[in-house]
Amino acid sequence: MQADYIILGQGLCGTLLSYHLIKAGKKVVVIDAFNPFSAGRVASGLINPVTGMRVVKSWMIDDFLPVADATYAALERQLGINIVTPYSLLEFHATPEIHNTYRERALQTSYLTEYPDTASLDPYFNFNFGISEISPCSIIDMRSLQNAWRTALQESGSLLEEKFDWSQLNATSGGITYKGITAKKLICCEGSAAMENPYFSLLPFALNKGEVLIADIPDLPRTHIFKHHLKITPWEDGLSWVGSSFDWKYTDLLPSETFRAKAEQQLESWLKIPFSIKEHWAASRPATVDHKPFTGFHPLHPAIGILNGMGAKGCSQAPYFAYNMAQHLIEGTDLFAETDIKRFTKILSRTTV
Ligand SMILES: Cc1cc2nc3c(=O)[nH]c(=O)nc-3n(C[C@H](O)[C@H](O)[C@H](O)COP(=O)(O)OP(=O)(O)OC[C@H]3O[C@@H](n4cnc5c(N)ncnc54)[C@H](O)[C@@H]3O)c2cc1C
Repeated sequence: MQADYIILGQGLCGTLLSYHLIKAGKKVVVIDAFNPFSAGRVASGLINPVTGMRVVKSWMIDDFLPVADATYAALERQLGINIVTPYSLLEFHATPEIHNTYRERALQTSYLTEYPDTASLDPYFNFNFGISEISPCSIIDMRSLQNAWRTALQESGSLLEEKFDWSQLNATSGGITYKGITAKKLICCEGSAAMENPYFSLLPFALNKGEVLIADIPDLPRTHIFKHHLKITPWEDGLSWVGSSFDWKYTDLLPSETFRAKAEQQLESWLKIPFSIKEHWAASRPATVDHKPFTGFHPLHPAIGILNGMGAKGCSQAPYFAYNMAQHLIEGTDLFAETDIKRFTKILSRTTV
């Protein structure tokens, strides 16, 4: 079989990249071994324009949001599904000092304000030090997106459901062959599994483990995302997504008793209403040491590319970089310089395959 591109992985990156390439009329084969605990199936799908302890605007968020909005809207139309739900996030402050920091930051970013209606939250939560509102946020229903796109790929005969077998790949500067399929390029979008990729495992990934609980909190309004140490986000079937942890020194990807006990204790002291835990999951985030994604082509094997390293921000970043990568492949436009893996040419030149 002759294809233009083989894409390894149908997580968020593989979904978005294959969508753009197919839309441009390219023949694409996507190879994915279904993993119910991939990052993209465990994530809550939050897009939050404000980041971290320093409460600053996320890197390039004003560039990412318009592309994300347009891409998800186009996918909703094409697939006939709803995947974007706008919310605001209510951040409960743990100390008066943190509350003051948020107040100061609120003067500097339009995304952050003091939440005026704290009384309405009294029946549900224990809190003492004020609440900030971050808006606009949104939740991307990543599971529905990946499921619907998977079905579309299956129906067009564009999906191979299997674990990629590296011993079957033959790469030359002119193209690749894999199990009888020839293509111009292989683009690797396998998230944290890139550590097993013989071409890209030398890249400076900083994978981290995240654990989440799926909880039933029947009396909780589904109006906002609530955050106090943990985030509570509306999830499927009337349930709530509760998470998550960030662990850089993990030895396995199993759900841990330590996380569950701590999270349950935090929920008990924060919530005034009953809850029960239905599921407990763990997955690895494909983060990078310099906090920038990896896009581009291997310096020694130009037929092999990568779109990866979205870390904890796949929903906002992946649409932008998938589009940039697709335009590069289709039109020959430049890759975004800051994420181009040319910055690791020296490291990648040590590749032994
Ligand atoms: C607990 C947790 C919470 C998160 N919350 C958020 C959030 O709220 N907002 C946000 O923006 N991001 C969040 N993220 C991050 C987000 O999930 C990732 O940025 C995103 O999923 C990365 O997409 P990806 O396509 O690179 O990788 P993945 O989603 O991991 O997809 C990789 C795909 O490749 C396939 N694959 C891998 N290796 C092979 C192989 N050898 N052969 C065949 N198939 C293969 C896998 O089965 C999978 O389908 C969270 C992550 C975690 C773990």
